[in-house]
Amino acid sequence: MKTDINIVPRDKWKTGGRQLLIAGPCSAETEEQVFQTALRLQRTGRAFWFRAGLWKPRTRPDAFEGVGAKALPWLTRVNRETGLTIITEVASAKHVEACLQTGIRHFWIGARSTVNPFTVQEIADALKGTDTTVLIKNPIHADLQLWLGALERVNKAGITHLGAIHRGFHVHGNHPFRNHPLWEIVVELKRLHPNLPVLCDPSHIAGQRELIPYLAQKAIDMDLDGWMIEAHVQPDLAWSDARQQVTPEMLNEILEGMVERKKDAPLNGSKEKLEQLRDKINALDEELLQAFRSRMQLSEQIGELKKSKNMTILQLSRWDEMLEQRIANGRMLGLKDEFIKRLFELVHDESIRIQTEILNPVLQEEKK
Ligand code: PEP
Ligand code: MN
Repeated sequence: MKTDINIVPRDKWKTGGRQLLIAGPCSAETEEQVFQTALRLQRTGRAFWFRAGLWKPRTRPDAFEGVGAKALPWLTRVNRETGLTIITEVASAKHVEACLQTGIRHFWIGARSTVNPFTVQEIADALKGTDTTVLIKNPIHADLQLWLGALERVNKAGITHLGAIHRGFHVHGNHPFRNHPLWEIVVELKRLHPNLPVLCDPSHIAGQRELIPYLAQKAIDMDLDGWMIEAHVQPDLAWSDARQQVTPEMLNEILEGMVERKKDAPLNGSKEKLEQLRDKINALDEELLQAFRSRMQLSEQIGELKKSKNMTILQLSRWDEMLEQRIANGRMLGLKDEFIKRLFELVHDESIRIQTEILNPVLQEEKK
């Protein structure tokens, strides 16, 4: 469902035409740690905003849960002495009120809060009528509706300086990333709200500092509006998320290595070439659609046959064998296993839906 949100568009944010960089430690630990990190970040000349978590939403109760409101004056000192804008995480009305009292007006809502509409609504109510900026991280799991819902709730409270932060999604099992990027969800968010600023949080996607440069570049390639990156004066000694933090100087180096991309970069002699390639892609996609149509017609015929023989729709051994064969064939053509698997799962699902419609039209009707 597409709903309108009334926001300050991404190209109107005051970043001097550059990507917005939000940097700072995962958690505020001591005044010295906060201040030194901020100072060193400011010296790189890259950071616009300084982040630090005061109330840390931790998955397990025995982890460090943040120093709390006592660090608010540390943050206001950073603002006073370095000029950096301060942003911190809020997870309740009390957090919002405490921040507003100290003059902090930039907030993010964390992944563990975005999952809960009650929490988001409580924060939105506390923000009503304030001139504040709110960035909303994606929910822990891959539910775009929850992310959209949170953006809408905060927007309905009158907050127009609104943005999203992509921090990856929890998926079960072992993966190279702490949180799977699932870029397709970000692409869909951008399709629904092309004006919404979307930042990338490579630190929480990666979970390990070595992957940050790759993800930070990917954010540029995906036309995102900047980054939130965790930086700490002594990353390995950090009280939370030590593996994924970098020093301010390492962060500077990472960003120095980024290749800028432009949506409408001057193509000069390559314009025609790009158009030719796009034409070829359009033609191939048309052929793919025709092939899918023919394939689904065959599924209809199989459905009719199964109906006449009272056969089950799902034939697990056939599906197993088919998938294995498609993956092997794809591999020979240089296509990735995961791509072929996801593609054919989708095709197979549609085929089952078509056959269900034939074998059991009533059931199908009820599902709608
Ligand atoms: C954080 O930014 O330190 C944090 C807790 O992030 P997330 O909500 O993305 O887990
Ligand atoms: Mn963190």
